Amino acid sequence: MIYLDNGATSFRKPPEVKAAVRRAMDTCANPGRGGYGAAMEAANTVFRCRERAGELFGCDPEQVVFTSNCTHGLNIAIRSLVKPGSRVVISGFEHNAVTRPLYALDAKVKIAGRRLFDPEDTLEAFEKALKQGADAAVFTHVSNVFGYILPVEEMGELCRRAGIPFIIDAAQSAGSLPVNLSSSGAAFIAMPGHKGLLGPQGTGILLCAGEAQPLLYGGTGNASISQRMPEDLPERLEAGTLNVPGIAGLEAGLKYLQRCAPGSIAAREQTQAKRCTEGLRKLGMDVYWGDHQAGTVSFRCGLDCEEAAQRLAKQGIAVRAGIHCAPTAHESAGTLDTGTIRISYGHDAGPEQTARILRAVEKLPRWKR
Ligand code: PLP
Repeated sequence: MIYLDNGATSFRKPPEVKAAVRRAMDTCANPGRGGYGAAMEAANTVFRCRERAGELFGCDPEQVVFTSNCTHGLNIAIRSLVKPGSRVVISGFEHNAVTRPLYALDAKVKIAGRRLFDPEDTLEAFEKALKQGADAAVFTHVSNVFGYILPVEEMGELCRRAGIPFIIDAAQSAGSLPVNLSSSGAAFIAMPGHKGLLGPQGTGILLCAGEAQPLLYGGTGNASISQRMPEDLPERLEAGTLNVPGIAGLEAGLKYLQRCAPGSIAAREQTQAKRCTEGLRKLGMDVYWGDHQAGTVSFRCGLDCEEAAQRLAKQGIAVRAGIHCAPTAHESAGTLDTGTIRISYGHDAGPEQTARILRAVEKLPRWKR
């Protein structure tokens, strides 16, 4: 199979990730629940991952909170900053993991910046929206549908100048683009462990600089007598038993990334995405490509997107089709009625994958305007 659905999850994890999961299952009990060897091994495993994530993402280990996915982290962050009726500015490219929690809180949401691959438009609209009054802002680093890399540093700077706390959704960037909690000035940065960080499904990280409110209440292994959640991080946000094998695998994924030359994964993904775009255009497909694009490409052909993806699957190509949980992004790009077929490269991006998908797409009907 040619796997090009890394935007959903990375699938070909490095062998050391699998080995670490297996080792943890053999050696780890429950962290923070006892002083015997297997409990201590679990606690050390979890702490190693916190330390490594802190090194990679510019924060202290205590600011690294383990979650079960990026959605979980975004929910904690949003619940911490947004109250019912709060005014929240978001970008025009958000995932449902951002918009649904805001909707559930009855927040007054303002969407700013709808033009694809146009950071100037994004910044202008964002600044204008902030000036109209906002209690918080939430924005994605990279659009999961189109691969558009938003100017998050400048967006963060605008928020800081206006004194507005903000959350970055790094679901599609962590592991390939630089993400740093302290230099970003973000209150929270949420990321999955299972996509670019190459950990197992069921893992995620929330980096916390802001005052955080628990989403779940329950056992933390310490301060057992108190009926309140501990004040300190990370325990405040980590109720219940952690996914220790997952965190062990995640730590191995982070270690793998630390060994790669900075920027090399993004460069590999972007090179193939660009080549793929050129090939798709030659085949008469309707392709979304621009400057400031990561290793994700959306396109349409002369077939319903779901059917096209099915046909590609029969040829051994794994891609995703449809709305990709991001109706806001499709509204911005004008593709809400059809959806798109999404090709998302991962750490193993290479020319063979591009050649294979182009050969398979050649057999699909062309897009007619
Ligand atoms: N945000 C973006 C931009 C995403 O692409 C995704 C998943 O695809 C999420 C949030 C949610 O991530 P998870 O599936 O880890 O909850």
